[in-house]
Amino acid sequence: MNDQTNAIHFGYEKETQGTMAVPIYMSTAYDFGSADFAASSFNLEQGTDHVYTRVGNPTTAILERRFAKIEGGSASLAVASGMSAIFYAILNITEAGDNIIASTQLYGGTITLFTQTLKKLGIETRFFDVNGYDAIESLIDDKTKCIFFETISNPSITVPDFEPIITIANKHGLLTIVDNTVATPYLCKPLKLGCDVVVHSASKYTGGQGLAIGGLIVERENLVEKIKGNSRYNYFNEPETSYHGLVFSNCPASSVLFTFRMRMVLMRDTGAVMSPFNAWLFVQGLETLALRIKEHSKNALLIAQFLEAHPKVKKVNYPLLATDKNYANASKYLQNGASGLLSFEVENLAMAKEILDKVSVFSIVANIGDSKSIINHSASTTHQQLSKEELQKAGINEGLIRLSVGIEDADDLISDLAKAIG
Ligand SMILES: *Cc1c(COP(=O)(O)O)cnc(C)c1O
Repeated sequence: MNDQTNAIHFGYEKETQGTMAVPIYMSTAYDFGSADFAASSFNLEQGTDHVYTRVGNPTTAILERRFAKIEGGSASLAVASGMSAIFYAILNITEAGDNIIASTQLYGGTITLFTQTLKKLGIETRFFDVNGYDAIESLIDDKTKCIFFETISNPSITVPDFEPIITIANKHGLLTIVDNTVATPYLCKPLKLGCDVVVHSASKYTGGQGLAIGGLIVERENLVEKIKGNSRYNYFNEPETSYHGLVFSNCPASSVLFTFRMRMVLMRDTGAVMSPFNAWLFVQGLETLALRIKEHSKNALLIAQFLEAHPKVKKVNYPLLATDKNYANASKYLQNGASGLLSFEVENLAMAKEILDKVSVFSIVANIGDSKSIINHSASTTHQQLSKEELQKAGINEGLIRLSVGIEDADDLISDLAKAIG
């Protein structure tokens, strides 16, 4: 089946009295029925949907199956937020003393997670510029656990060349973890390009209407081949003491070992679980994601072209503008559009603020991926915690305005901006 059919049907067999809509199972726990079944559930012999909602829930499981299918992966784990998705993906392979390699062009929350919180846990982040991946190899040592980057970076809007990064990672037996929030699986499938793990903030395009916070981590098919026997990933190759010496890369669930360990160790112990109600909202969102992302992409390109021709706009960043420095990579990796995120630069901070105050269809909001159009001044809001150098590295200057273009009528959006820019 194709993606759009899977987005509507995959992973739900109408086992609940034929209800067409996916039901919401609001339940903390499940009746095991027999002592033997209870024991085997805790022993990891049974599935994880019927033990305790911290490690699995039937509504959430439908979202997980469906999302993994559309991303082209083998399994996924739903978590409480995009940030917890990134945290868990990293924590699943690292411990104090390890390091990770990450792009400088990242979401602001990811940068502070890496430079502040992970640092306090003893995990070092070594940064590379995704426009110059040559530097990556010199950053790798035997404590390096992954290379992390974004498909379309938020907010500097850079599209990396996946191939050389994947080649370097594979040469060193390193995992690549890609944040695919902005592109969504409809515009790019990093796992199909050879990346190993994808993370998402479902709060953005997946939900699509700014309704709920959530995150997902998806692993590629056959990831076990890269992890099994690989000395970088001891968690999967050495006996797990909390499960009586089970070795994840040998167990029957080894075809989904990355997800399985995250769920059975990290979720069990730290519990950033997605609510079943939010999972249900994301199931609704997924049904229309393909339709929405086409409209977001179409509107954003029209606005990018309008802004590019405007005399008061110094620069426009949108990957599918022919003049954009990302155009070659975007044409190669984003075949169905470049999503709704664009940024543009005006002369200075005062002018940027004036534009924010003058628009009326766009709202000033710290979010992206809503059906409603959003305008934001990155340097003073979402990226305020970054130092001047970090801002520069992330490609953000004082006059930079970010738009998350919604799915309103494009003409209305353009005249709103035209009035505000003057
Ligand atoms: C929003 C966002 C996140 C964080 O997701 P939350 O759901 O807000 O925790 C991570 N990465 C990117 C690219 C984002 O846009």
